[in-house]
Amino acid sequence: MRIVLVGPPGAGKGTQAAFLAQNLSIPHISTGDLFRANISQQTELGKLAKSYMDAGNLVPDEVTIGMAKDRMEQSDAEGGFLLDGFPRNVSQAEALDEMLHSEGMKLDAVLDLEVPEEEVVKRIAGRRICRNDSAHVFHVSYKAPKKEGVCDVCGGELYQRDDDSEETVRKRLEVYHTQTEPIIDYYKAQGLVVTISALGKVEDVTGRAMEALN
Ligand code: ADP
Ligand code: ADP
Ligand code: ADP
Repeated sequence: MRIVLVGPPGAGKGTQAAFLAQNLSIPHISTGDLFRANISQQTELGKLAKSYMDAGNLVPDEVTIGMAKDRMEQSDAEGGFLLDGFPRNVSQAEALDEMLHSEGMKLDAVLDLEVPEEEVVKRIAGRRICRNDSAHVFHVSYKAPKKEGVCDVCGGELYQRDDDSEETVRKRLEVYHTQTEPIIDYYKAQGLVVTISALGKVEDVTGRAMEALN
């Protein structure tokens, strides 16, 4: 199965992707996580990406599409993929279509997570992630770690992402509306979009998502 997740920053894409990937037995591919892994390993790609991310802008397509393709090429053997954070503009969506088309493959669905802006702001403000693995995600009130500042999964240090500052969040929301939202219409034209509410408990959202994908 090949699925794309869309939704504003803080909607819960990473949180849902972890459960959905497990339920559907497909790998969770997050371009944000791939960039953050490159930043912590201080690669050239990481150095380049960081300046864009800290400003709340998209990393240029030349870099992003190449990185996403490299990761997706490994996914043939993994039964498909759940893309989280890619594509993030129409040219990335076109590049993905071309890539799939040339392999005789296509997407099965685009899952659109809907959340009011005030909730997204609360989710981002309280988000804390693990230094060891940015897929280990917590929230100071909604999913507090057992010990403050310490990851329940691996014991790593929890920190607030540089780009989760209030100012950068405003910019990221603007980028979402102007550059990412248009991909929803792009995929609607292909009849692929299913929209669900991402409000409420994590497991309820997962349930809604599984139902919508059936
Ligand atoms: P995204 O990948 O869309 O940016 P995350 O999955 O990182 O979003 O979630 C953003 C923050 O909101 C995290 O701190 C996460 O723990 C929290 N969160 C995710 N889903 C929910 C939910 N259903 N209810 C409350 N908080 C949530
Ligand atoms: P969130 O879900 O909170 O928006 P992500 O982890 O998906 O955060 O993305 C963090 C940042 O990484 C983005 O603001 C952007 O700078 C960069 N990024 C991630 N995916 C892409 C992409 N497909 N194209 C360009 N930039 C990306
Ligand atoms: P369990 O203890 O049964 O394994 P979890 O620790 O996964 O359950 O979740 C406990 C509660 O926290 C649930 O109500 C769930 O909706 C919520 N929750 C789980 N993960 C997150 C998250 N990333 N962000 C916000 N709330 C979460």
